[in-house]
Amino acid sequence: MTMEEIDKCSQNDPEIQELRNRIHTGKWEGCNKSYYAVRHELTTFGNMVLRGTRIVMPRPLREQTLKLAHEGHQGIVKTKQRLRQKVWWPNIDREVEGMIRQCHACQVVNKAAQAEPIQPSKLPEGPWEDLAIDLCGPFPSGEYIIVLTDYYSRWPEATVLRSITSQTTINWLNHVFSSHGYPKSITCDNGAQFVSKEFCTYLSDHGIHHRRVTPYWPQANGQVERMNKVFLKLIRASVVEGKDWRKELTNFLLIYRSSPHITTGLSPAEMLFKRQIRTKLPQVGKMSVSQKQLKEAMRHDRAQKQSYKNYADRHRRTQVRDIKPGDKVLVKCEKKNKLSPAFYPTPFKVVKKMGNCLELMRPDGIKFRRNVSHTKLYKGGEGEIGDANLYDLEEDDICDNGEGENIPNHQRENDRPRRNRHPPRWLDDYIT
Ligand SMILES: [Zn+2]
Repeated sequence: MTMEEIDKCSQNDPEIQELRNRIHTGKWEGCNKSYYAVRHELTTFGNMVLRGTRIVMPRPLREQTLKLAHEGHQGIVKTKQRLRQKVWWPNIDREVEGMIRQCHACQVVNKAAQAEPIQPSKLPEGPWEDLAIDLCGPFPSGEYIIVLTDYYSRWPEATVLRSITSQTTINWLNHVFSSHGYPKSITCDNGAQFVSKEFCTYLSDHGIHHRRVTPYWPQANGQVERMNKVFLKLIRASVVEGKDWRKELTNFLLIYRSSPHITTGLSPAEMLFKRQIRTKLPQVGKMSVSQKQLKEAMRHDRAQKQSYKNYADRHRRTQVRDIKPGDKVLVKCEKKNKLSPAFYPTPFKVVKKMGNCLELMRPDGIKFRRNVSHTKLYKGGEGEIGDANLYDLEEDDICDNGEGENIPNHQRENDRPRRNRHPPRWLDDYIT
């Protein structure tokens, strides 16, 4: 941008011409407040107006000036500094901020500023209604621990499995349900054995609602994730002590089931059976649990979760991001190399918001889900022209019904294993 250009533009710009008149005549009545405030610094130079040594940019050249100053995609502070030395106009700082917030490249490249607040899960109405299932392992022996946890009582059922096909999982579930009955729902991650046709059919045949955790958001399955940590610790400890961890597992289950849980204050056994179960520890008096105690446990659970949420939200400096259906968002992409941007360059439209989960639509109409914390509100500007293929979706991310969950995905039993699978140990003796 040359001085001649600015001079010529100033000559034709009514706002600058008016300003020049006021400077020459000294009449400031009815003048724009921003100019009035700095009137003593304003002078004319050729057809231009200066504020001190800075050029007052005529309106038609302002956008181009901002773009030039933002060259190299520097941040707000740097861009303002660059401009401040040379040019000025009313509200220049606000315009810089607005432009950079809407800069497509900056939005795609910059990391998300804030995390979404935690949403504490509500305790189910009663025991053995909503369960979570997960696998822990594989351990060096190639074995897994499969864990089923009741969200209400925190009662864990667990066993060691050598193979983790849908059939072995179903066999074990049948065994557990023979004592406790069928639950209303089961939450699971997207492990192959939990999304197979066989598993989905088994659940629907028994009237069990199949909830799936949002991909890339294992925290949603927090209950079992925590159990996994506990089991891992137990196994490490028994290895250290030279004990057989398979035997330790049953011992551990009794202890866990009879110990008060931190968020409810009651033991899983008390919440599930309304009585204490006898352990090696001595105990006298009444073994049963009253309705009042159960109510108290639920209140305790809410309070504990709330205080954890308050702490975590403060800690992560979260802020409720007001993402509504109809908004456009950017979606985080996995870092493949140092040059990968933080977000996919195509903004996606929000179709639905269910708690912390967003249902998004690609430009080609395919819908998929992401947790809010993996997205960022996109602010207008360019980048509307989206190449649908830029964003590779994994098959199990795609929503094919309005619910955003309960998606039977039949073909995937073997083609995309999520876990490191080991062949069962007995196969060592065979040539496969
Ligand atoms: Zn930029």
